[in-house]
Amino acid sequence: MNDQSANQPVVLVIEDEAPIRRFLKLTLSEHGFKFKEALTGQEGLQKAAFDKPDLIILDLGLPDLEGLEVTKQLREWSTIPIIVLSARGNDKDKVEALDAGADDYLTKPFSVPELLARLRVAMRHAARLAPEPDGANFAFGDVRVDLLKRQVFVEDAEVHLTPIEYKLLLAMVQHAGKVVTHNQLLRQIWGDSYGDESHYVRVFMAQLRRKLEKDSAHPRHFITEPGVGYRLKID
Ligand code: CA
Repeated sequence: MNDQSANQPVVLVIEDEAPIRRFLKLTLSEHGFKFKEALTGQEGLQKAAFDKPDLIILDLGLPDLEGLEVTKQLREWSTIPIIVLSARGNDKDKVEALDAGADDYLTKPFSVPELLARLRVAMRHAARLAPEPDGANFAFGDVRVDLLKRQVFVEDAEVHLTPIEYKLLLAMVQHAGKVVTHNQLLRQIWGDSYGDESHYVRVFMAQLRRKLEKDSAHPRHFITEPGVGYRLKID
């Protein structure tokens, strides 16, 4: 194929602030993405259907529809990865968007490496390439999880996890690289009737870190996303 642009992933940016659109256009074009833009929520919804993007970057503060509403409407018919942009301090907004089906978030102002890392993870998940590599094993740092035998090793020594700890680890592995909200973890591990008991997650996360992290006070893999949830950092 001579036409390289045919293979470039298309990113739709829904954002009313011109400087941020310009920054994203420049950065995305430089890094092999095709850039599309929409200035309002309504226009974004139309272009999401019409331009068939591979990924959407969605500002939560739009002049017409709230970004949260755009997320909900998109999720009625689409599984396109959505990365939301939020202003610093608006934890509630981004958590609601993540719980409504957004895949990840960036807090303004964000750096190019941060942006590219989020895009990579979201695209990898969309392509269902994680959590490979060999299907039965998942490794990060010194930790290896045998998903078939449900065994966990740190530096080749088996570590015993309780059933809840293992479920929490599995949830983090399934979302490796992406943020997972307290709410998502509660529902996945304890069931749909849970949602406000985020201290459960904190307790079990602390146990998991003690067992799997070298220095549980300064975790390298099980990272806290303040006010939001956790992220399993694998590289
Ligand atoms: Ca805005």
